Amino acid sequence: MRGRLALWLRAQWEAGVFQTRADISMFVLNTVLVAITLATAAYLMVAAILANFHLLPYPFASALSFGTPTTVLIAASVSALIAWLMGMAIHEMALSRAKFERLSRLDSLSGLLNRRAFIEDMAEKKLNGFFVLFDVDRFKLVNDVHGHAVGDAVIVAVAEELERVFASPHLVGRLGGEEFAVFIENDDRGDCSLLVEEARRSVAARRVTGAKGPLGITLSAGIADRPVGRRFEAVFEAADRALYLAKSLGRDRTIHEDEGEGLLEPSRRVAAGGRRR
Ligand code: GH3
Ligand code: MG
Ligand code: MG
Repeated sequence: MRGRLALWLRAQWEAGVFQTRADISMFVLNTVLVAITLATAAYLMVAAILANFHLLPYPFASALSFGTPTTVLIAASVSALIAWLMGMAIHEMALSRAKFERLSRLDSLSGLLNRRAFIEDMAEKKLNGFFVLFDVDRFKLVNDVHGHAVGDAVIVAVAEELERVFASPHLVGRLGGEEFAVFIENDDRGDCSLLVEEARRSVAARRVTGAKGPLGITLSAGIADRPVGRRFEAVFEAADRALYLAKSLGRDRTIHEDEGEGLLEPSRRVAAGGRRR
């Protein structure tokens, strides 16, 4: 019985019922109606059988006029209390599950989508667009000179600017460290470049309070086409390679995957063929 109740509770919880208090009220109402019907039917049946065998200590009419309302009252109040407590318990569980699911998708420092959630959401985008990898330039130096807390403040500042520039329907995520990913839901390359440059400009204009005064930050970016159907791994690799080129060419710039090889001197092309990490 306990096992079945637990299974039923779990099924209700997973089905997402009891999301609102109105859902709980409906559940209580249904339970009370069923409980009243069953309890009244059972009471009348027992009273009729007892009356038939002259075992009822009072007349059957009294059983009907007094016993029935009493049965209804008791069945209604007991079932309402139990149903309300169960409904509230499931409601609380559903709320904490929703909160947990939301938090498990977010990066705790920046509040952006984390790597897994970003990849999942990008896979759901059924329109052509662009994938951009942004990386903070010389971030290790920020940590070394100004301390880890200032490094964290830089990550938060970059996240804020990216979120502002790439508002919905675009996607922004923190892939890890000081690396951010953006999906631009627009297949016009000119629009894409404008947005990426706006993001880089606004980050460069931003000042974070460092150990030795205000601190400027620059970003390098690698862009890859993301037509519907291109595998994430291939898109990521192309953007990563473009980002590597941006770093190799002096940082603080954007490279599209197409621009790649032609921009490097022959001696640097060999080195750029590999991945950054
Ligand atoms: P580059 O211009 O080539 O990108 O150089 P870089 O110094 O930015 O890159 P590198 O990969 O050498 O350094 C990244 C640093 O980021 C190293 C790591 O300690 C630091 N880091 C990673 N995650 C965090 C974080 O959450 N907070 C802080 N403050 N630092 C972090
Ligand atoms: Mg970096
Ligand atoms: Mg990096």
